[in-house]
Amino acid sequence: MLYFDKVQEKDTELYNLILEEYNRQNSEIELIASENVPSEAVLQAQASYHTLKYAEGYPGARYYGGCDVIDKTEQLAIDRACKLFSCHYANVQPHSGANANTAVQFALCKPGDTIIGMSLNSGGHLTHGAKPTFSGKYFKVMQYDVDVDSYLIDYDVIKSMLYEYKPRLFIAGASAYPREIDFKKIREIIDEYNKQNEARIMADTYLLETDIPKVIEREHCYFMVDMAHIAGLVAAGLHQSPIPYADVVTSTTHKTLRGPRGGLILTDKEDLIKKINKAVFPGVQGGPLENIIAAKAVCFWEALQPEFKEYQKQVIENAKYLAYHLQRFGIKILTGGTDNHLLLLDLRDTCVTGKELEERLESIGIISNKNAIPFDTQNKTTTSGLRLGTAAITSRGLKKEDILIIAAIIASCVVPEDEFEWQKEAMQKNVVEIANKYPLYN
Ligand code: PLP
Repeated sequence: MLYFDKVQEKDTELYNLILEEYNRQNSEIELIASENVPSEAVLQAQASYHTLKYAEGYPGARYYGGCDVIDKTEQLAIDRACKLFSCHYANVQPHSGANANTAVQFALCKPGDTIIGMSLNSGGHLTHGAKPTFSGKYFKVMQYDVDVDSYLIDYDVIKSMLYEYKPRLFIAGASAYPREIDFKKIREIIDEYNKQNEARIMADTYLLETDIPKVIEREHCYFMVDMAHIAGLVAAGLHQSPIPYADVVTSTTHKTLRGPRGGLILTDKEDLIKKINKAVFPGVQGGPLENIIAAKAVCFWEALQPEFKEYQKQVIENAKYLAYHLQRFGIKILTGGTDNHLLLLDLRDTCVTGKELEERLESIGIISNKNAIPFDTQNKTTTSGLRLGTAAITSRGLKKEDILIIAAIIASCVVPEDEFEWQKEAMQKNVVEIANKYPLYN
């Protein structure tokens, strides 16, 4: 556990809140799929003296003096990110995943261009074209859903949407999709689409020859993958990497990757990294958070170690195990299981909504989030689903026997209210026992 003695001396009120939050995390079981428990090395790097430094620009080309050490730090993070994901270029400055996505859209698209992303209910992220976001307001957005029966991505739908809507940018990746995404297949579909487009443009006798390359460029469809959720699995080689297939890959660094809160952009294309760098700064951000970049460097180093692969294997195994036992206890899991770190409970035929189950679980110390499921008839604040993830509990070291108990507890919450109230105290005790066995930090 880190010490906060200086905060304690200066500001008791805040110090108490820091302790209160630590105690909450330590005594509860964290099943939010987008959260994790980074190492104390990551936390310390975040609190380093790098916090003090203004460094607008990039290594070797800053708008401020005194950036020699900062340059070395940022370059270290870039080099490690490239090594980890086997790619040529990285921008480690995005303050968050949303900023990374915004920067890529800003770099590759003009306002009014068409973009295609996965709908929120099917598992896509807000920044993939949802109405209230930058992406939904500045672009013409078309969204794909998963298949109505299998709840899986239908690659034929992706293909027909490309030809129908002619997007500038196609976005794959999700916040709540429990199965592998075939990035290679999407690349092939987009390549064929671009090839046919080029042939059509070149055959257009009304175009001047000198205009043809410009028109081809304008009508080119880029492929972006947002691997925020699965980045750790990709780094460990346990999920198909999008790097060889996408033009640009964005990510967060704090989910399965287990680093500090932040964003990341990767590409193999020199022309694109130039556009992306300009889009991150000065396009959508100011000075980079060099302390967070230092912590990203630690996170990438950790992810390059052999133990990281073992950790990620365990994350997937735990998720499969949780899905298996929940189903044994009669809870429906969307798509019948999971290939990654997350699962989605389908509560449509039960006596609880996603909101109710999230609240019941929280009242006994299990933290999760309600989540819309595809074609959900409940509204977004109620939902018929619940999303669970195993990245954080695996970091704390929970074992199979604990996951079996957790599955039994969750299933015991999907009952009429009086039955839940009747069992609540015993379940709370079980949760505390498990949490006590695996302290957040030693
Ligand atoms: N992309 C995906 C797929 C996500 O799931 C999320 C967050 O949950 C984001 C982007 C946004 O990340 P951040 O919260 O860091 O902005």
